[in-house]
Amino acid sequence: MTTILVTGGAGFIGGCLVRQLVRDSAGRIVNVDKLTYAGNLDSLVDVEDDPHYEFVHADIGDMEAMGQVFARYQPTAVINLAAESHVDRSIDGPGAFVETNVVGTFRLLEVARAYWDQLHGAARDTFRLVHISTDEVYGSLGPDGAFTETTPYAPNSPYSASKAASDHFVRAYYHTYGLPTLITNCSNNYGPYQFPEKLIPLIILNALEGKPLPVYGDGQNVRDWLFVEDHCRAIRRVLEEGQLGQCYNIGGDCERTNLAIVEAVCDTVDRLRPALPHAPCRQLVRFVKDRPGHDRRYAIDATKIGSDLSWKPEHVFEEALVATIEWYLKNPEWVARVTSGVYRRERLGLGL
Ligand code: NAD
Repeated sequence: MTTILVTGGAGFIGGCLVRQLVRDSAGRIVNVDKLTYAGNLDSLVDVEDDPHYEFVHADIGDMEAMGQVFARYQPTAVINLAAESHVDRSIDGPGAFVETNVVGTFRLLEVARAYWDQLHGAARDTFRLVHISTDEVYGSLGPDGAFTETTPYAPNSPYSASKAASDHFVRAYYHTYGLPTLITNCSNNYGPYQFPEKLIPLIILNALEGKPLPVYGDGQNVRDWLFVEDHCRAIRRVLEEGQLGQCYNIGGDCERTNLAIVEAVCDTVDRLRPALPHAPCRQLVRFVKDRPGHDRRYAIDATKIGSDLSWKPEHVFEEALVATIEWYLKNPEWVARVTSGVYRRERLGLGL
């Protein structure tokens, strides 16, 4: 029987992955999460009573707690999504990013290595650790080209620097100790249950309430967008079929400027909620001071995962965006609960 340990499973992507795995796999899914401001068990009510699912409240950087988790659950695989994930927060306070993304990942690798070292036979051969990373480690592109798995790392924000450092440690543990690791580098995700500090949910909620819609700089920064369910299917392909020691880029082949995203959200909100007093929502757009070190363009070349692992995105951006907006319209309680802490959709990341 398989036991997959998902770290960061109370977050946006981890939650989607846990829900998919509980739905589709016969094995046990153990979610280990520290429950920071970004982690919320409300995202997992669909699976919380499933006998195949377990939650452990722990920090990946706590080696004693993680050692106990490995000893108790004897995982056949680990998928590491636990991280500080918001670039603006990394500008205001990079320390937490070093602590979790760099030191936490290193400590998780140490615990995984000690555990893997004492496995034998098939259990040792089939064990996998998949580390989830981002396209932001590659830095910024000009108007042409796309990141491949051999693009040199050139991180520009404290967030991407911390993710790059963690990727290097994961790679080193494969080459130095033989720990069976794989890395994925994915573009911007969107979908239900995303914490409303990120662009798409922030714009949806502000548009509904008639609040200003902040667009950084000239709004022409380009990102590649992927529906979160497609990302999680890709992670599972990499776990099942990926080659040890390899990296896989994951993307949606869906480049959009930030302004185009904001306008698409506005138009959809206008259509789904026709009676809003402040309609049309586009008039709420405000161009604000740019993010320091704001990368101009990211684009992913996902040829390798397509040809080697037969993965491609299933969702079309325009349709999945509407489904995402509909989800936020239908789930105001979730939004209220996850934002009931200190975060109030204020501007972060000016480095002040
Ligand atoms: P998120 O911020 O929504 O969730 C992160 C989760 O990790 C939260 O549940 C949080 O409580 C948990 N966590 C934080 N520190 C922890 C620690 N020390 N120990 C245990 N748990 C801890 O993030 P997300 O958007 O779901 O991203 C998940 C992963 O995917 C991250 O590694 C991120 O870098 C990567 N990624 C995200 C995107 C994106 O667009 N969101 C794109 C590419 C890669």
